[in-house]
Amino acid sequence: MQHGTGFKVQTYFTGVRMLLIKDIHTLYTGGAEPEELHNVHLLLNGPTIVGIYRDDDLPDETVESIIDGSRLLVLPGFINMHHHFTQILTRNLVGAQNAGLFDWLVYHYPIWAKITSESIEAATMTAAAELLLSGCTTSVDHCYLFPRDQNELLDHEIKAAQSMGIRMVLCRGSMSLSQKDGGLPPDQVTQDIDRILAHSAQVIDQYHSAEPGSMLQIVIAPCSPFSVSRELMIESKRLARDRGVLCHTHLAETRDEEEYCLEHYGCRPLDYLEQVGWLDERTFLVHMIWINEQEIGRLATAGTGLVHCPSSNMRLGSGICPVVSYLQAGLPVGIAVDGSASNDASNMINELRQTMLLQRVKNGPTAIGARTVIDMSTTHSARILHRPDLGHLHASAAADVIGINLDRLPLAGGLSDPVAAIIFGLIERVDLTIVAGRILVNQGQLVQHDLTELIARHNQAARDLLQ
Ligand SMILES: [Zn+2]
Repeated sequence: MQHGTGFKVQTYFTGVRMLLIKDIHTLYTGGAEPEELHNVHLLLNGPTIVGIYRDDDLPDETVESIIDGSRLLVLPGFINMHHHFTQILTRNLVGAQNAGLFDWLVYHYPIWAKITSESIEAATMTAAAELLLSGCTTSVDHCYLFPRDQNELLDHEIKAAQSMGIRMVLCRGSMSLSQKDGGLPPDQVTQDIDRILAHSAQVIDQYHSAEPGSMLQIVIAPCSPFSVSRELMIESKRLARDRGVLCHTHLAETRDEEEYCLEHYGCRPLDYLEQVGWLDERTFLVHMIWINEQEIGRLATAGTGLVHCPSSNMRLGSGICPVVSYLQAGLPVGIAVDGSASNDASNMINELRQTMLLQRVKNGPTAIGARTVIDMSTTHSARILHRPDLGHLHASAAADVIGINLDRLPLAGGLSDPVAAIIFGLIERVDLTIVAGRILVNQGQLVQHDLTELIARHNQAARDLLQ
């Protein structure tokens, strides 16, 4: 604990944790009209932000901890909008290094079919560690594999995520269309529609919290057009509507998927989505690469949320998402690392950088700037998730804050614009990550967990899966 001038420092924790980040070098507020402030203080009260203050208007509060912000760039925590935590167990497998999506999936399905409660716990902790260390404070995870009807895998994932302290939006995924029914996955990783819907309803009732500051929300997320029946898409949306939760799925990721939809449904992927009643502002869609101008207009009218995964799209050779066109149409676009068998990193800040660079490959150097990708990962993502409490640092927002020490090698010489420097430079780790007022990363290290132990446990789980 550091003692700051003019503050009573409380040493006995009474249940209300007042934390002050003092004398912040640069603070980027996020939100609809982001500001960049210098030499300000950010006061947190437990899980909530109290406000941003100058020296002369700082309230006389009892502060438990003070963090010196004089060399920090402080931002709202990034929101990772799509992941498959369990894929970290199958990172960089030799047999799938050079495969496109369909071959890549067919290679992995039998391996993923062996996932256990231990492997999902280990993978969740590894994913959360990597995300927290790279500035992510909220993560969406799309868990769609329940081999041998192991619905309890989701309970184990939640337990592991809670132990790491990361804020979660957990997508109860599903696959119901196996190879014998014309789908891509084998029988061993699909489930019966009634069991899927019953378990989806159960996890919403058990875990979903709609309150501001919620640490866990549930989303209904059938996997993709080639692994889910039309009936399950329709019934999933109905369930989500009844329970007041969002829907999520993969769409328009590859040319192969487009051909699949034309062959099996007689229409393009977005037409199919509209037919099953999904095209609205309570749906968010990941990838969305093979979409034409007319379809972008329909998405804009519907207000559907979009998620971009640049590293995964490049790694699998899927194509380049028309992010700039989506933004010009007024659509919110979030950023995600995607699963770690197709990235293969869960490094959030690197994904922001990749987003900026990839759009410039397609659209030129003025297409997209550093602040746009920061806004996509904060403000846009919070809008997609219908979470006004996330993605900004104004009073009464959730206390999800990250800090980057500006005295580091990749930023040397680049501080004429500190906010942009963290995107143009290659930052591997942030120095400070606070989620709901709890310091989870300090000085670039996990506070509550031993990384060496996490990695050893994870590697053992990965070896068990490949046996
Ligand atoms: Zn995915």
